Amino acid sequence: MTGLLDGKAALVTGGGRGIGAAIALRLARDGADVAISYGGSKAGAEAVAEQIRALGRRAELFQCDAAQKNATDALVRAAAQRLGRLDILVNNAGVYPQTTIRKCSDDEFDRTMAVNLRAPFEAMRAAYDVMNDEGAIITIGSVAAEGATVPGIGVYCASKAGVQLLARGAAREFGRRRIRSNIVQPGPIDTDMNPADGETADMQRLSVPSRRYGTAEEVAALVAWLASDESSYVNGAMINVDGGLKS
Ligand code: NDP
Repeated sequence: MTGLLDGKAALVTGGGRGIGAAIALRLARDGADVAISYGGSKAGAEAVAEQIRALGRRAELFQCDAAQKNATDALVRAAAQRLGRLDILVNNAGVYPQTTIRKCSDDEFDRTMAVNLRAPFEAMRAAYDVMNDEGAIITIGSVAAEGATVPGIGVYCASKAGVQLLARGAAREFGRRRIRSNIVQPGPIDTDMNPADGETADMQRLSVPSRRYGTAEEVAALVAWLASDESSYVNGAMINVDGGLKS
């Protein structure tokens, strides 16, 4: 518990499991009240909310399918209203279609772009309206934004490259109100999306100097710092949490 986020209110999309759950808990531990959205993981989200409340912080839950147009815009406005303020937005919800360009259907392409790119766009646009000055937006991208290093990830890479530039665009546009926007780009992190015992796990481990997957908590620690005033002059930054994969 650092107390660095005392008095602040945060929204974490996709906070019911994986990296989003770790971020929601870390922000609460550091003092923030936290709203979390979930798509299908209602039970997971309720369990995270219970842990947040046990820390003495407020937790608010919202069901929101990020693939639906305008759902994330409405989510941000509703969260700010329910919490009474909004200081921190974490765009975390994401999908990872493992498909080659040749095999990717129109629907899968659209869904990937909707969740990974359009929803963060809607969230940023709404956040500019409802967020306090000096707020912090943190978007979870991916090192996949930096290159399609293996077959079958081109569509995902495109969505993450797009959201990287979107987050940097927000840094440029929102600075007038001293709202910062930074992008955190994880390497292999052990979650349902990319389990450390999955089919391609050994190959991914080999690409990391320390030969290990990262944890969701290691991503959350960076997000908490970016959400705090400790990082007050860090804006428009892309920070990899990848154990040196991109070194
Ligand atoms: P998980 O698959 O464990 O979790 C995905 C999260 O996204 C869940 O909370 C899920 O919510 C939410 N989500 C997905 N689709 C929707 C939707 N349509 N509407 C609402 N929520 C949705 O993945 P991670 O925790 O690993 O991923 C979190 C972020 O980190 C993603 O943006 C991912 O791209 C990124 N990332 C992950 C890496 C890794 O190695 N794990 C590496 C690089 C980046 P629900 O279950 O409630 O539907």
